[in-house]
Amino acid sequence: MGHKSVAIDGPSGAGKSTLARQAAKALGFLYVDTGAIYRTLALLALERGVDPADPAAVQALLPQADIRLAYNSSDGLQHMYLCGRDVTEDIRRPEVSRAASSVSAIQAVRDFLMETQRELARQHDVIMDGRDIGTVVLPQADVKIFLTASPEARARRRCDELAQRGTPQDLETVLAEIVERDRRDTTRAAAPLRQAEDAVLVDTTELDLAESLQALLDAVRGELNA
Ligand code: C5P
Repeated sequence: MGHKSVAIDGPSGAGKSTLARQAAKALGFLYVDTGAIYRTLALLALERGVDPADPAAVQALLPQADIRLAYNSSDGLQHMYLCGRDVTEDIRRPEVSRAASSVSAIQAVRDFLMETQRELARQHDVIMDGRDIGTVVLPQADVKIFLTASPEARARRRCDELAQRGTPQDLETVLAEIVERDRRDTTRAAAPLRQAEDAVLVDTTELDLAESLQALLDAVRGELNA
């Protein structure tokens, strides 16, 4: 019997990774954060002094992009390895977020990383989060969710998260970055962010974390049992 797959797409800061990770735990599925894969490639570009927005230069890097995922056996968390080095923390830096948005707009990058993502879904029951999982990577997913919240709600949450990490930023700056990333993610030619026709919309603007998780689990279980 094939494995089950749940695709969760949506804009940055909607809580996809936190909620998808918790939902995966509740369902006993493997959680795959595909943004982390793009971030790892973006980090490689930055470290090699390559402009993340230069398609030819980024494409030339791909043969050296030894990117692996591993799951920590104690906490089950997804760790990212770049050429054998654990970069799980490094890829969360703001400049890597910006660079990830640029490299992910390059079609050759998307093609290169596609198989890594599909292979995980062939091997495991997965909850995979990203921008194009339901539309491009796993169009046959058993469940598709489009998880979103207003830009203001997402900016407030991102600010809280950055403050907790000890790298606070003001709300206006964070909101402006979110609006800009939304614009880039939805207007790019290669796999733009959009809700799949058969995706269930989960809007967490008015919900706290516990309520959002409940809404997500209700939607996923409802679709899995449908
Ligand atoms: O989800 P996260 O913010 O970590 O993703 C980083 C960047 O990678 C996003 O800005 C988005 O442009 C890109 N991305 C993508 N496709 C995915 C996941 C992430 O284009 N499946």
